[in-house]
Amino acid sequence: MVVPPAPSLVLSFADARRVIEEQAAQIRAGEIESASLLDAAGRVLAETVVADRDLPPFPRSTRDGYAVRSADLARVPARLEVIGEIKAGEQPNKIPSHLAAGQAVSIMTGAPVPAGADAVVMVEFTSQHGKQVEIAKSLAAGENVVPRGAEAREGKVLIDRGQRLNDAAIALAASVGRSHLQVYRRPPVAVLTTGDEIVDINVAPGPTQIRNSNSYSLAVQIRQAGADPVLLPIAPDEPQRLRALIDEGLQTDLLVLTGGVSMGRYDLVEQVLSDMQAEFFFTGAKIQPGRPVVFGRCDAGTLARESPGKYFFGLPGNPVSTMVTFELFARPILEALAGMSPRKLVFVHARLKSEIRVKPGLKRFLPAILSGEFENSEVENVPWQGSGDIAATARANCYVVIPEDRDHILAGELVALLMR
Ligand code: AMP
Ligand code: MG
Repeated sequence: MVVPPAPSLVLSFADARRVIEEQAAQIRAGEIESASLLDAAGRVLAETVVADRDLPPFPRSTRDGYAVRSADLARVPARLEVIGEIKAGEQPNKIPSHLAAGQAVSIMTGAPVPAGADAVVMVEFTSQHGKQVEIAKSLAAGENVVPRGAEAREGKVLIDRGQRLNDAAIALAASVGRSHLQVYRRPPVAVLTTGDEIVDINVAPGPTQIRNSNSYSLAVQIRQAGADPVLLPIAPDEPQRLRALIDEGLQTDLLVLTGGVSMGRYDLVEQVLSDMQAEFFFTGAKIQPGRPVVFGRCDAGTLARESPGKYFFGLPGNPVSTMVTFELFARPILEALAGMSPRKLVFVHARLKSEIRVKPGLKRFLPAILSGEFENSEVENVPWQGSGDIAATARANCYVVIPEDRDHILAGELVALLMR
């Protein structure tokens, strides 16, 4: 039986992204597991972390110096009577219960500011003579003191469900005494490389064969996005074997195919998926590299009838196209499957070092090197042989984004960069 090919659904970059965002918003994350605090780093939080007490739990001095009543320093220099010393962690019974007018307490960074005091003057502006301290600088009420509960009140949500746990989030969880956190399970994601010319990396390639590199770049990107890659055997450009492997891939949470989505006679991925009654959201995006990218949903034969199926991506086989289209389209779906709250793509901006000329009509993501610090940062695209050139891309640390309506970007122009 000859099934007509899937209709061509080539979208603008913005429309393709909109489709991705809409689908990602509908995804409900899977199972939850407990992880020890350090193992939770990089994972996605599946609960909320709340403050178990006020933060800080007492008015905290942010300086070494003297706790004072700011009103006593209306005129400087002023001399105050030193009635004691408070170090960080001082027991409450050792802290002067109240500071009266004309009095000061020597205090260390992180120590509780006693009642009556409303500011801390830095030690640099003082000199102590016996029981007296001379202060050269006046200061406003509240200076160098963080009031109790100013960072968070007891019970406040500090980290939301769906947030990826970075260093600061782990520190925050530690600060409220959480040794274990509930996180989402890492979803398994199948990687299926296609192509008669592709061989495993432990096989000596024939003169016209190509080693499989895409499965490895994808595995790295999948791990970084918070999922577990499952590398399937390489599929030949032959419909039956391809279909069997697609079926296997659809048993995981997401199937990422590479290769076989261009217009060639042996590009069978779309055809086989459409034979399987797949639903296609798009079959191309007006970008370069990566124009033939395919996104859809398909029911593996073994899934329940009412199941909406599993998402799949058919990424173009050219290695740079594979990497770029994963970042732009597959990552958000995968992050949603991994429990992450949706987020927009993040771009940074820098000045272009040398002009770029391109043909207009496609939004381009060209491998580039961002260098220089602060106001000296600049970006230059890496000379490359097109979207098969992994060597050039491995030297790059970002992609310069060229809008679809531009054919000439001048040196010195501010351009958007997608970091990698
Ligand atoms: P395709 O998208 O199948 O037309 O492949 C486009 C180009 O990417 C061809 O030159 C392929 O040899 C190359 N290619 C496809 N898959 C891989 C892979 N897994 N690793 C490295 N190169 C690949
Ligand atoms: Mg191919």
